[in-house]
Amino acid sequence: MKILLAAFKQETSSFNPARMPYEMFSVLFGDELLALRGSNTEIAGALDVFDGRSDIDTVPLYSASSVSGGPVADEDLNRLMDELLTAVRNNGPADGMLMVFHGAMAGETEVDPEGHVLTEIRNILGDVPIVTTFDLHGIITDRLIEQSDIMVPFHTYPHIDMYETGQRGARNLLALLDGPVKPTVARIALPMLVRGDELITKTGRFGRAIRWCREIENSKGGLGSGVYIGNPFTDVPDLRSNVIVFTDNDPKRARDEAERIARYMWDNRHHFTAPLVSIRDAIRLAEKTDGLTVFSDAADATSSGASGDSNAILKGLFEHGYTGRALLPIVDPPAVEAAFQAGVGATLTLPIGGAIDKTRFSPVECEGYVKLLTDGAYTTGTGTSGHAGNTAVLVTDTYSIMATTRPVSIMDRKVFEARGLDPRDFDLVVCKSPNGFRVHYEEIAARIVPVDAPGSTSANLNSLPYTQCPRPMFPLDNDAEM
Ligand SMILES: [Zn+2]
Repeated sequence: MKILLAAFKQETSSFNPARMPYEMFSVLFGDELLALRGSNTEIAGALDVFDGRSDIDTVPLYSASSVSGGPVADEDLNRLMDELLTAVRNNGPADGMLMVFHGAMAGETEVDPEGHVLTEIRNILGDVPIVTTFDLHGIITDRLIEQSDIMVPFHTYPHIDMYETGQRGARNLLALLDGPVKPTVARIALPMLVRGDELITKTGRFGRAIRWCREIENSKGGLGSGVYIGNPFTDVPDLRSNVIVFTDNDPKRARDEAERIARYMWDNRHHFTAPLVSIRDAIRLAEKTDGLTVFSDAADATSSGASGDSNAILKGLFEHGYTGRALLPIVDPPAVEAAFQAGVGATLTLPIGGAIDKTRFSPVECEGYVKLLTDGAYTTGTGTSGHAGNTAVLVTDTYSIMATTRPVSIMDRKVFEARGLDPRDFDLVVCKSPNGFRVHYEEIAARIVPVDAPGSTSANLNSLPYTQCPRPMFPLDNDAEM
Protein backbone atom coordinates (compact mmCIF):
# COMPACT_ATOMS: atom_id res chain seq x y z
CA MET A 1 0.00 0.00 0.00
CA LYS A 2 1.23 3.44 -0.90
CA ILE A 3 0.93 6.19 1.74
CA LEU A 4 1.68 9.88 1.18
CA LEU A 5 3.14 11.94 4.03
CA ALA A 6 3.34 15.73 4.29
CA ALA A 7 3.41 18.60 6.82
CA PHE A 8 2.12 22.18 6.57
CA LYS A 9 2.55 24.11 9.81
CA GLN A 10 2.50 27.65 11.06
CA GLU A 11 0.70 29.45 13.90
CA THR A 12 -0.45 32.99 13.22
CA SER A 13 -0.94 35.93 15.53
CA SER A 14 -3.20 38.28 13.62
CA PHE A 15 -2.16 41.10 15.95
CA ASN A 16 1.50 40.94 14.94
CA PRO A 17 1.94 43.66 12.29
CA ALA A 18 4.79 41.77 10.56
CA ARG A 19 3.97 39.54 7.57
CA MET A 20 5.58 36.13 7.52
CA PRO A 21 7.56 35.52 4.33
CA TYR A 22 8.34 32.21 2.57
CA GLU A 23 11.96 32.49 3.74
CA MET A 24 10.88 31.99 7.37
CA PHE A 25 9.66 28.47 6.56
CA SER A 26 11.84 25.41 6.73
CA VAL A 27 10.82 23.70 3.49
CA LEU A 28 11.71 20.10 2.71
CA PHE A 29 10.91 18.18 -0.48
CA GLY A 30 10.58 14.41 -0.97
CA ASP A 31 13.27 12.34 0.70
CA GLU A 32 14.59 15.44 2.48
CA LEU A 33 11.84 14.72 5.04
CA LEU A 34 13.76 11.61 6.08
CA ALA A 35 16.27 13.95 7.76
CA LEU A 36 13.59 14.51 10.42
CA ARG A 37 14.06 10.94 11.70
CA GLY A 38 15.16 10.99 15.32
CA SER A 39 13.62 14.42 16.02
CA ASN A 40 10.60 15.07 18.22
CA THR A 41 8.30 15.70 15.25
CA GLU A 42 5.08 14.16 13.93
CA ILE A 43 6.88 13.18 10.72
CA ALA A 44 9.51 11.21 12.67
CA GLY A 45 6.82 9.38 14.66
CA ALA A 46 4.83 8.52 11.55
CA LEU A 47 7.90 7.29 9.66
CA ASP A 48 8.79 4.94 12.51
CA VAL A 49 5.29 3.41 12.55
CA PHE A 50 5.12 2.98 8.77
CA ASP A 51 8.65 1.51 8.74
CA GLY A 52 7.40 -1.31 10.95
CA ARG A 53 5.16 -2.55 8.16
CA SER A 54 6.72 -4.34 5.21
CA ASP A 55 3.55 -3.89 3.14
CA ILE A 56 3.64 -0.09 3.36
CA ASP A 57 5.44 2.07 0.83
CA THR A 58 5.79 5.52 2.43
CA VAL A 59 6.21 8.44 0.05
CA PRO A 60 7.41 11.59 1.88
CA LEU A 61 6.18 14.55 -0.14
CA TYR A 62 6.70 17.92 1.41
CA SER A 63 7.12 19.70 4.72
CA ALA A 64 6.79 23.43 5.36
CA SER A 65 7.01 24.62 8.94
CA SER A 66 8.04 27.78 10.71
CA VAL A 67 8.05 29.46 14.06
CA SER A 68 4.86 31.31 14.92
CA GLY A 69 4.45 34.81 13.57
CA GLY A 70 2.26 37.28 11.78
CA PRO A 71 -0.11 36.33 8.93
CA VAL A 72 1.64 34.63 6.00
CA ALA A 73 1.98 37.06 3.09
CA ASP A 74 -0.52 36.19 0.32
CA GLU A 75 2.05 35.55 -2.38
CA ASP A 76 4.18 33.40 -0.08
CA LEU A 77 1.19 31.41 1.18
CA ASN A 78 0.13 30.74 -2.42
CA ARG A 79 3.63 29.48 -3.18
CA LEU A 80 3.65 27.14 -0.14
CA MET A 81 0.16 25.76 -0.91
CA ASP A 82 1.12 25.32 -4.55
CA GLU A 83 4.29 23.40 -3.66
CA LEU A 84 2.34 21.05 -1.38
CA LEU A 85 -0.47 20.43 -3.86
CA THR A 86 1.96 19.93 -6.77
CA ALA A 87 3.76 17.29 -4.70
CA VAL A 88 0.43 15.50 -4.04
CA ARG A 89 -0.55 15.67 -7.72
CA ASN A 90 2.83 14.38 -8.90
CA ASN A 91 2.79 11.44 -6.49
CA GLY A 92 -0.84 10.33 -6.58
CA PRO A 93 -2.80 8.15 -6.78
CA ALA A 94 -2.25 6.61 -3.36
CA ASP A 95 -4.01 4.30 -0.90
CA GLY A 96 -3.98 6.88 1.90
CA MET A 97 -2.36 10.01 3.26
CA LEU A 98 -1.19 11.36 6.61
CA MET A 99 -1.28 15.17 6.66
CA VAL A 100 0.41 17.03 9.52
CA PHE A 101 -1.02 20.46 10.36
CA HIS A 102 -0.64 22.96 13.16
CA GLY A 103 -4.13 24.27 12.46
CA ALA A 104 -3.81 27.96 13.37
CA MET A 105 -2.22 29.27 10.18
CA ALA A 106 -3.75 32.32 8.51
CA GLY A 107 -2.83 34.30 5.44
CA GLU A 108 -3.47 37.97 4.80
CA THR A 109 -6.73 37.07 3.03
CA GLU A 110 -7.07 33.26 3.31
CA VAL A 111 -8.29 32.61 6.86
CA ASP A 112 -8.24 28.79 6.61
CA PRO A 113 -5.22 27.67 4.56
CA GLU A 114 -5.34 24.16 6.06
CA GLY A 115 -8.99 23.72 5.07
CA HIS A 116 -8.17 24.93 1.58
CA VAL A 117 -5.26 22.57 0.98
CA LEU A 118 -7.06 19.61 2.56
CA THR A 119 -10.08 20.15 0.28
CA GLU A 120 -7.74 20.27 -2.72
CA ILE A 121 -5.91 17.13 -1.55
CA ARG A 122 -9.28 15.36 -1.26
CA ASN A 123 -10.13 16.41 -4.81
CA ILE A 124 -6.82 15.01 -6.06
CA LEU A 125 -6.76 11.73 -4.11
CA GLY A 126 -10.47 10.95 -4.07
CA ASP A 127 -12.14 8.68 -1.55
CA VAL A 128 -9.09 7.18 0.17
CA PRO A 129 -8.35 7.39 3.92
CA ILE A 130 -6.84 10.74 4.93
CA VAL A 131 -5.79 11.20 8.55
CA THR A 132 -4.82 14.67 9.81
CA THR A 133 -2.83 15.64 12.90
CA PHE A 134 -3.03 18.98 14.71
CA ASP A 135 -1.52 21.04 17.47
CA LEU A 136 -4.15 21.36 20.19
CA HIS A 137 -4.06 25.12 19.48
CA GLY A 138 -5.48 24.36 16.02
CA ILE A 139 -8.57 26.23 14.80
CA ILE A 140 -10.97 23.70 13.37
CA THR A 141 -13.22 24.59 10.46
CA ASP A 142 -16.09 22.52 9.07
CA ARG A 143 -14.15 21.52 5.99
CA LEU A 144 -11.24 20.17 8.05
CA ILE A 145 -13.67 17.81 9.79
CA GLU A 146 -15.49 16.95 6.57
CA GLN A 147 -12.32 16.13 4.63
CA SER A 148 -10.50 14.22 7.40
CA ASP A 149 -11.37 10.56 7.96
CA ILE A 150 -9.82 10.83 11.44
CA MET A 151 -8.21 13.80 13.24
CA VAL A 152 -5.52 13.39 15.91
CA PRO A 153 -4.34 16.32 18.08
CA PHE A 154 -1.52 16.77 20.59
CA HIS A 155 -2.36 15.58 24.10
CA THR A 156 0.18 17.66 26.01
CA TYR A 157 0.62 21.28 26.95
CA PRO A 158 3.38 22.42 27.01
CA HIS A 159 3.73 20.29 23.87
CA ILE A 160 6.09 17.38 24.22
CA ASP A 161 4.19 14.68 22.30
CA MET A 162 4.83 15.66 18.69
CA TYR A 163 6.51 12.32 17.94
CA GLU A 164 3.74 10.34 19.68
CA THR A 165 1.08 12.33 17.82
CA GLY A 166 2.71 11.32 14.53
CA GLN A 167 2.63 7.71 15.71
CA ARG A 168 -1.04 7.97 16.73
CA GLY A 169 -1.92 9.51 13.38
CA ALA A 170 -0.04 6.78 11.51
CA ARG A 171 -1.73 4.02 13.55
CA ASN A 172 -5.17 5.52 12.89
CA LEU A 173 -4.38 5.56 9.17
CA LEU A 174 -3.23 1.93 9.25
CA ALA A 175 -6.42 0.98 11.10
CA LEU A 176 -8.45 2.52 8.27
CA LEU A 177 -6.37 0.77 5.61
CA ASP A 178 -6.51 -2.60 7.36
CA GLY A 179 -10.25 -2.21 8.08
CA PRO A 180 -13.01 -2.62 8.58
CA VAL A 181 -13.24 0.71 10.46
CA LYS A 182 -16.05 3.20 9.88
CA PRO A 183 -15.22 6.51 11.60
CA THR A 184 -18.10 8.41 13.17
CA VAL A 185 -17.42 11.89 14.55
CA ALA A 186 -18.93 14.27 17.08
CA ARG A 187 -17.80 17.85 17.44
CA ILE A 188 -18.92 20.24 20.17
CA ALA A 189 -17.92 23.85 19.52
CA LEU A 190 -17.33 25.96 22.63
CA PRO A 191 -17.37 29.80 22.59
CA MET A 192 -14.33 30.05 24.85
CA LEU A 193 -10.71 31.15 24.57
CA VAL A 194 -8.45 29.86 27.30
CA ARG A 195 -5.08 30.74 28.87
CA GLY A 196 -3.24 30.15 32.11
CA ASP A 197 -1.56 27.53 34.27
CA GLU A 198 -4.61 25.27 34.52
CA LEU A 199 -3.95 24.35 30.89
CA ILE A 200 -0.74 22.57 31.86
CA THR A 201 -1.83 19.02 31.19
CA LYS A 202 0.46 17.43 33.77
CA THR A 203 -0.83 19.50 36.70
CA GLY A 204 -3.85 21.57 35.61
CA ARG A 205 -7.57 20.97 35.18
CA PHE A 206 -7.16 20.68 31.41
CA GLY A 207 -5.17 17.49 32.01
CA ARG A 208 -8.31 15.70 33.19
CA ALA A 209 -10.14 16.41 29.92
CA ILE A 210 -7.12 15.17 28.00
CA ARG A 211 -6.94 11.99 30.10
CA TRP A 212 -10.53 11.21 29.07
CA CYS A 213 -9.52 11.71 25.44
CA ARG A 214 -6.61 9.31 25.89
CA GLU A 215 -8.92 6.76 27.51
CA ILE A 216 -11.28 6.97 24.54
CA GLU A 217 -8.41 6.49 22.09
CA ASN A 218 -7.09 3.51 24.05
CA SER A 219 -10.51 1.86 24.35
CA LYS A 220 -12.09 -0.59 21.93
CA GLY A 221 -13.84 1.39 19.19
CA GLY A 222 -12.21 4.68 20.20
CA LEU A 223 -10.33 6.65 17.54
CA GLY A 224 -8.65 10.11 17.46
CA SER A 225 -10.01 12.31 20.26
CA GLY A 226 -9.00 15.66 21.67
CA VAL A 227 -9.71 19.16 22.86
CA TYR A 228 -8.65 21.83 20.37
CA ILE A 229 -8.47 25.08 22.31
CA GLY A 230 -7.49 27.24 19.33
CA ASN A 231 -4.80 29.90 19.31
CA PRO A 232 -6.52 32.95 20.88
CA PHE A 233 -4.37 35.28 18.75
CA THR A 234 -5.52 33.99 15.37
CA ASP A 235 -8.40 36.38 14.81
CA VAL A 236 -10.43 34.40 12.26
CA PRO A 237 -14.18 33.60 11.92
CA ASP A 238 -13.76 30.03 13.25
CA LEU A 239 -11.74 30.93 16.35
CA ARG A 240 -13.16 28.99 19.33
CA SER A 241 -12.53 25.80 21.28
CA ASN A 242 -13.68 22.41 20.02
CA VAL A 243 -14.03 18.94 21.46
CA ILE A 244 -13.82 16.35 18.70
CA VAL A 245 -14.25 12.61 19.22
CA PHE A 246 -14.03 9.89 16.58
CA THR A 247 -15.36 6.41 17.22
CA ASP A 248 -15.69 3.29 15.11
CA ASN A 249 -19.27 3.20 13.85
CA ASP A 250 -20.75 4.48 17.11
CA PRO A 251 -22.11 8.02 16.66
CA LYS A 252 -23.96 7.96 19.98
CA ARG A 253 -20.82 7.18 21.96
CA ALA A 254 -18.88 9.88 20.07
CA ARG A 255 -21.62 12.38 20.95
CA ASP A 256 -21.87 11.34 24.61
CA GLU A 257 -18.10 11.46 25.17
CA ALA A 258 -17.71 14.81 23.37
CA GLU A 259 -20.55 16.32 25.39
CA ARG A 260 -19.11 15.11 28.68
CA ILE A 261 -15.68 16.60 27.93
CA ALA A 262 -17.13 19.84 26.52
CA ARG A 263 -19.32 20.32 29.60
CA TYR A 264 -16.28 19.86 31.84
CA MET A 265 -14.25 22.42 29.86
CA TRP A 266 -17.11 24.93 29.93
CA ASP A 267 -17.79 24.48 33.65
CA ASN A 268 -14.11 25.17 34.36
CA ARG A 269 -13.81 28.17 32.03
CA HIS A 270 -13.14 30.67 34.82
CA HIS A 271 -10.10 28.64 35.84
CA PHE A 272 -8.70 28.81 32.31
CA THR A 273 -7.63 32.45 32.59
CA ALA A 274 -4.23 33.88 33.46
CA PRO A 275 -3.66 36.07 36.51
CA LEU A 276 -0.86 38.50 35.64
CA VAL A 277 1.52 40.62 37.73
CA SER A 278 2.34 44.23 36.79
CA ILE A 279 5.90 44.87 35.60
CA ARG A 280 6.64 46.97 38.69
CA ASP A 281 5.41 44.33 41.13
CA ALA A 282 7.19 41.60 39.18
CA ILE A 283 10.52 43.43 39.47
CA ARG A 284 9.97 43.86 43.21
CA LEU A 285 9.34 40.12 43.49
CA ALA A 286 12.55 39.42 41.60
CA GLU A 287 14.50 41.64 44.00
CA LYS A 288 13.12 39.74 46.96
CA THR A 289 13.89 36.33 45.49
CA ASP A 290 16.95 34.36 46.48
CA GLY A 291 18.01 32.66 43.25
CA LEU A 292 16.80 32.87 39.67
CA THR A 293 13.52 34.60 38.84
CA VAL A 294 11.99 33.92 35.43
CA PHE A 295 9.55 36.41 33.92
CA SER A 296 7.05 34.93 31.51
CA ASP A 297 6.38 37.65 28.93
CA ALA A 298 3.52 35.86 27.20
CA ALA A 299 2.41 39.09 25.52
CA ASP A 300 5.48 39.07 23.27
CA ALA A 301 5.75 35.29 22.95
CA THR A 302 7.43 34.47 19.67
CA SER A 303 6.18 30.91 20.20
CA SER A 304 2.60 32.24 20.07
CA GLY A 305 3.21 34.47 17.05
CA ALA A 306 4.23 37.80 18.57
CA SER A 307 6.83 40.05 16.98
CA GLY A 308 9.39 39.56 19.77
CA ASP A 309 10.54 43.18 19.75
CA SER A 310 8.98 44.25 23.04
CA ASN A 311 11.30 46.19 25.33
CA ALA A 312 8.57 46.80 27.94
CA ILE A 313 10.36 44.78 30.63
CA LEU A 314 13.78 46.24 29.75
CA LYS A 315 12.30 49.73 30.12
CA GLY A 316 10.76 48.68 33.41
CA LEU A 317 14.12 47.46 34.69
CA PHE A 318 15.82 50.73 33.69
CA GLU A 319 13.09 52.83 35.28
CA HIS A 320 13.13 50.81 38.46
CA GLY A 321 16.94 50.81 38.65
CA TYR A 322 17.10 47.02 38.94
CA THR A 323 20.69 46.07 39.78
CA GLY A 324 20.56 42.27 39.42
CA ARG A 325 21.99 40.34 36.49
CA ALA A 326 19.26 40.13 33.85
CA LEU A 327 19.06 38.19 30.57
CA LEU A 328 16.61 39.52 27.98
CA PRO A 329 15.93 38.31 24.43
CA ILE A 330 14.68 40.69 21.75
CA VAL A 331 14.09 40.62 18.02
CA ASP A 332 15.82 43.75 16.75
CA PRO A 333 17.32 43.66 13.23
CA PRO A 334 18.62 47.29 13.28
CA ALA A 335 20.35 46.79 16.65
CA VAL A 336 21.99 43.59 15.39
CA GLU A 337 23.11 45.40 12.25
CA ALA A 338 24.62 48.21 14.33
CA ALA A 339 26.43 45.71 16.54
CA PHE A 340 27.87 43.92 13.51
CA GLN A 341 29.05 47.26 12.09
CA ALA A 342 30.71 48.14 15.38
CA GLY A 343 32.29 44.70 15.84
CA VAL A 344 33.05 42.53 18.86
CA GLY A 345 34.58 44.51 21.71
CA ALA A 346 33.03 47.82 20.70
CA THR A 347 30.84 49.89 22.98
CA LEU A 348 27.98 51.74 21.38
CA THR A 349 24.84 53.63 22.26
CA LEU A 350 21.85 52.42 20.31
CA PRO A 351 18.05 52.27 20.40
CA ILE A 352 16.68 48.88 21.53
CA GLY A 353 13.18 47.53 20.86
CA GLY A 354 10.12 48.63 18.91
CA ALA A 355 11.66 47.76 15.54
CA ILE A 356 8.59 45.82 14.32
CA ASP A 357 5.46 46.40 16.41
CA LYS A 358 5.87 50.17 16.34
CA THR A 359 2.39 50.98 17.59
CA ARG A 360 2.96 49.04 20.81
CA PHE A 361 6.65 49.66 21.50
CA SER A 362 9.09 52.55 21.15
CA PRO A 363 12.89 52.23 21.28
CA VAL A 364 14.87 52.88 24.46
CA GLU A 365 18.43 54.25 24.32
CA CYS A 366 20.94 51.78 25.67
CA GLU A 367 24.72 51.75 26.00
CA GLY A 368 26.01 48.28 25.27
CA TYR A 369 29.27 46.37 24.89
CA VAL A 370 29.30 43.97 21.95
CA LYS A 371 30.13 40.72 23.65
CA LEU A 372 29.37 38.25 20.88
CA LEU A 373 28.27 38.11 17.25
CA THR A 374 27.02 34.92 15.56
CA ASP A 375 25.12 33.77 12.47
CA GLY A 376 22.26 32.64 14.74
CA ALA A 377 22.10 28.98 13.59
CA TYR A 378 21.69 26.45 16.39
CA THR A 379 20.04 23.18 17.36
CA THR A 380 16.92 23.55 19.49
CA GLY A 381 16.02 21.35 22.43
CA THR A 382 13.70 19.25 20.21
CA GLY A 383 16.57 18.46 17.85
CA THR A 384 15.40 20.67 15.00
CA SER A 385 17.35 23.56 13.45
CA GLY A 386 16.83 27.05 14.86
CA HIS A 387 17.50 30.10 12.71
CA ALA A 388 17.79 33.32 14.67
CA GLY A 389 19.58 35.12 11.84
CA ASN A 390 22.54 37.31 12.72
CA THR A 391 22.59 37.58 16.50
CA ALA A 392 24.38 39.95 18.88
CA VAL A 393 24.87 39.71 22.62
CA LEU A 394 24.97 43.24 24.03
CA VAL A 395 26.01 43.77 27.63
CA THR A 396 25.16 46.81 29.74
CA ASP A 397 26.25 47.14 33.38
CA THR A 398 24.37 44.06 34.56
CA TYR A 399 22.00 43.23 31.73
CA SER A 400 22.72 40.87 28.83
CA ILE A 401 20.52 41.47 25.78
CA MET A 402 20.34 38.73 23.17
CA ALA A 403 19.30 40.58 20.01
CA THR A 404 18.27 38.40 17.06
CA THR A 405 17.38 39.27 13.49
CA ARG A 406 14.57 36.71 13.23
CA PRO A 407 12.03 35.57 15.82
CA VAL A 408 12.82 32.24 17.49
CA SER A 409 11.01 30.37 20.23
CA ILE A 410 12.27 31.35 23.68
CA MET A 411 11.34 28.11 25.42
CA ASP A 412 14.19 25.69 26.00
CA ARG A 413 17.54 26.94 27.30
CA LYS A 414 19.44 26.00 24.12
CA VAL A 415 18.44 29.31 22.53
CA PHE A 416 20.57 31.12 25.15
CA GLU A 417 23.23 28.46 25.66
CA ALA A 418 24.06 28.52 21.96
CA ARG A 419 25.27 32.14 22.46
CA GLY A 420 27.31 31.29 25.55
CA LEU A 421 24.56 32.53 27.89
CA ASP A 422 23.71 30.16 30.75
CA PRO A 423 20.42 31.19 32.41
CA ARG A 424 21.79 29.84 35.72
CA ASP A 425 24.33 32.69 35.73
CA PHE A 426 21.55 35.31 36.07
CA ASP A 427 19.19 36.63 38.73
CA LEU A 428 16.45 37.32 36.18
CA VAL A 429 15.68 35.75 32.82
CA VAL A 430 12.88 36.89 30.51
CA CYS A 431 11.18 34.08 28.57
CA LYS A 432 8.87 35.25 25.81
CA SER A 433 6.62 32.24 26.25
CA PRO A 434 3.38 31.65 28.19
CA ASN A 435 4.11 28.14 29.46
CA GLY A 436 6.36 26.15 27.14
CA PHE A 437 9.49 27.40 28.92
CA ARG A 438 8.42 25.98 32.26
CA VAL A 439 9.61 22.41 31.80
CA HIS A 440 13.06 23.81 31.01
CA TYR A 441 13.23 26.32 33.87
CA GLU A 442 11.34 24.80 36.78
CA GLU A 443 14.42 22.89 37.89
CA ILE A 444 16.61 26.01 38.00
CA ALA A 445 14.17 28.82 38.87
CA ALA A 446 13.38 29.93 42.42
CA ARG A 447 10.37 31.86 41.16
CA ILE A 448 8.36 32.20 37.94
CA VAL A 449 6.26 35.35 37.43
CA PRO A 450 3.69 35.82 34.61
CA VAL A 451 4.11 39.50 33.76
CA ASP A 452 1.40 41.82 32.47
CA ALA A 453 3.21 43.60 29.64
CA PRO A 454 1.68 44.92 26.41
CA GLY A 455 1.95 42.78 23.28
CA SER A 456 0.17 41.09 20.39
CA THR A 457 -0.19 37.78 22.27
CA SER A 458 -1.19 39.08 25.70
CA ALA A 459 -2.93 36.60 27.99
CA ASN A 460 -5.09 39.58 28.91
CA LEU A 461 -7.35 38.81 25.93
CA ASN A 462 -9.51 41.85 26.53
CA SER A 463 -6.50 44.02 25.55
CA LEU A 464 -6.52 42.66 21.98
CA PRO A 465 -8.35 44.30 19.03
CA TYR A 466 -10.47 41.37 17.78
CA THR A 467 -12.49 41.97 14.60
CA GLN A 468 -13.14 38.47 13.14
CA CYS A 469 -13.59 36.26 16.19
CA PRO A 470 -17.23 35.16 16.65
CA ARG A 471 -19.06 36.84 19.54
CA PRO A 472 -20.16 36.41 22.22
CA MET A 473 -16.96 34.66 23.34
CA PHE A 474 -15.68 33.91 26.83
CA PRO A 475 -13.83 35.75 28.38
CA LEU A 476 -14.36 38.70 26.02
CA ASP A 477 -18.10 38.80 26.69
CA ASN A 478 -20.20 38.08 29.75
CA ASP A 479 -23.08 36.58 27.81
CA ALA A 480 -21.29 33.71 26.05
CA GLU A 481 -23.21 30.42 26.44
CA MET A 482 -22.31 26.81 25.69
ZN1 LIG B 1 0.35 24.81 20.42
